[in-house]
Amino acid sequence: MIVDVAFDAPIAHPFSYRVPDGMTIVRGQRVLAPLRGASRIGIVVDVRPDEGEKLKALVRVVEPAPLLDASTLDLVGWIAANSMTSFGSTCLTLMPPPSPTGVARARAGAAGGDGPTPELLTGAGREARLIERIAGANTTTLLLTADVEGAARWAQRLGKLGRVLRLDSGVADAERAQAWRAVAAGEATLAVGTRSALLAPLPMGATIALIDEHEAAHKPPGAPRMHTRDITLERTRRDGLRALLTSATPSVELWWHCDSGRMRLDAAEPAAWPAVSVADTRGIARREALTPALARATREALAAHRRVFLGVSRLASILGCDECGAILKCESCAIALAYSPAGRTLTCRLCGRALPLMDACPACRGRRLAPFGWGAERVEHAVRRRFASARIARFDPEATRGAKADAQRQAALSADVVIGTRGALRLFGPASLGLAGFVSPDQLLGLPDFRATERAFALLWAAAERVTPDGQLIIQSQNPSHYALDAVARQDLTAFYKPELKFRAELGYPPFRRLAIITVAARSGAESAKLADAVGAALAGAPRLTVYPATPDRRNRARRIVVKGHADLPRVLAEALEGADTVGAARSRGIMDVEVDPVEWPS
Ligand SMILES: [Zn+2]
Ligand SMILES: [Zn+2]
Repeated sequence: MIVDVAFDAPIAHPFSYRVPDGMTIVRGQRVLAPLRGASRIGIVVDVRPDEGEKLKALVRVVEPAPLLDASTLDLVGWIAANSMTSFGSTCLTLMPPPSPTGVARARAGAAGGDGPTPELLTGAGREARLIERIAGANTTTLLLTADVEGAARWAQRLGKLGRVLRLDSGVADAERAQAWRAVAAGEATLAVGTRSALLAPLPMGATIALIDEHEAAHKPPGAPRMHTRDITLERTRRDGLRALLTSATPSVELWWHCDSGRMRLDAAEPAAWPAVSVADTRGIARREALTPALARATREALAAHRRVFLGVSRLASILGCDECGAILKCESCAIALAYSPAGRTLTCRLCGRALPLMDACPACRGRRLAPFGWGAERVEHAVRRRFASARIARFDPEATRGAKADAQRQAALSADVVIGTRGALRLFGPASLGLAGFVSPDQLLGLPDFRATERAFALLWAAAERVTPDGQLIIQSQNPSHYALDAVARQDLTAFYKPELKFRAELGYPPFRRLAIITVAARSGAESAKLADAVGAALAGAPRLTVYPATPDRRNRARRIVVKGHADLPRVLAEALEGADTVGAARSRGIMDVEVDPVEWPS
């Protein structure tokens, strides 16, 4: 027998091996095989008769039987094709740690066919409603979170309903492998995991619950290179399972699904909301991080022994007008232009248009164009000067790791004032703050990314949920009438999604079109540019594809090409790229990368 084995590598084709006598192997089984001088774990994608080829032999099997059935392997094939990632990488990262002792196949196998319409739970008490649904269902539920901490928290919450299996890497490998088997055997009906549990064997009629579907953390770097939401919806659709998703501020994609009836929206009555006000900072020379309104509210909250969160963001390289509040944007793409102080140029990260720095605002002719920004350090300094006796902590979990992050987190947990980025907000539970203030969310609204507004809106809404109903949310902004701010103030989701969907439709952004970013990073800028030309040539003439010119990254080494297409974008792109030899070679050498449906724009 000969087997074709795929590995966790950016190589599209599998490798063939001879099966030693006495070893039986089937498709979907993990095996150990020699590759480039080492034994590596791979997945068997095909078994065929020996035709006398001279091949290396397999080392051994990893499990006595396959963990994935044929329909699951088909799903993996769909994920791999749609994310333009190798089948091996996609499959192997979605499997549990190797365990020599057991077999873990789904009991009945999935039914397929029509399942219930997916449901999206929003509004106050959405998680309590989810738990009620899970308690009321008499089948298995697999609950997925964006990270291991979330999985641990949910395991505890669901523990009140019964035994909970942990399928995430927050538990030891052996426990995880055992949990995978226990789900398959139906020993427990509650399981919690992260994206690595997406293929866990589930019985017919099971539910997959996805927490905070809008989070970018559901698509971290690495395989599977697809948002957990998209895999969840595809799997539940194929297998006839129930999908329940929660979100405070749904992704624009899902809101659109609900609008068009492909998904059911379960929204609660609006809960009590804090007083939300927008402090207009136009025309104010910003020598102070806090406007009088935010400074006053901070003083009052501290006097009442209530906690304060001050939201800051990493400095964005964009320019804004201090007089009218306009952000300098690309005329054709409507996203902020990236400012390079060194070259005194403004560049669009999407279409590559480059403009020399202008000396007056195109909107009001004002002459105070300045880089946006209040970094966390400057804000901390300003707050310490004003509130010398308060306990003040700075927390930026996105930029700090390890012991330093732990120390920051500990300090933040006991501080009166936390100055933090998006991730720091997770420290606080619902209605636990007296005041949340955003120093300059225009920095977020203006990021050179078409999703910038959606993300800023989600952050402001999440902050409002964390303030007590008799507390305050103050947003300092140069765009005080922006619809995202208005929607938060009015606690009205529709007031955000309606104009946002209109913007996306008019400019051809997701969910109406699909995007991909092709990055080539050869040893030198010149080499990258040459390769980018080859990619551009390969894509020229591909049907239903808009290809933007290649743009250099900040260090001028890599080149980035943005392409826009329709629902069939991955297939069109794959066909066009496969035709070019140089491009194929670059992909297998790992110097060319394709990111389909990017959630975070590279800086
Ligand atoms: Zn202006
Ligand atoms: Zn542009």
